[in-house]
Amino acid sequence: MAYKITEECISCGACEPECPNQAISEGDTIFIIDPQKCTECVGSFMSSRCAEVCPVDAPQPDPDHKESKEALLARWRKLHPGEEPAVGTY
Ligand code: SF4
Ligand code: SF4
Repeated sequence: MAYKITEECISCGACEPECPNQAISEGDTIFIIDPQKCTECVGSFMSSRCAEVCPVDAPQPDPDHKESKEALLARWRKLHPGEEPAVGTY
């Protein structure tokens, strides 16, 4: 499922450059994740980079965007045409 950034976000910006899909951007008050680009890091990393680097645990799985690993991998392939997903990440 896609991740979302909760109100805990202090807008430090640490997560933005870590996202392999450029899914994170600065919103009006806090940073935001585009659920159409988030693959939960499937295809790139073993776990969610944004959650790992965040100092306040703001990125959380979004229950409104539940998706299978297959769907997340299909999204990754769309976002990275011509590339192969990293082994062990899907
Ligand atoms: S979980 Fe991964 S793909 Fe999704 S926003 Fe965070 S870093 Fe990007
Ligand atoms: S790393 Fe955490 S606190 Fe910093 S911008 Fe991202 S979600 Fe917000």
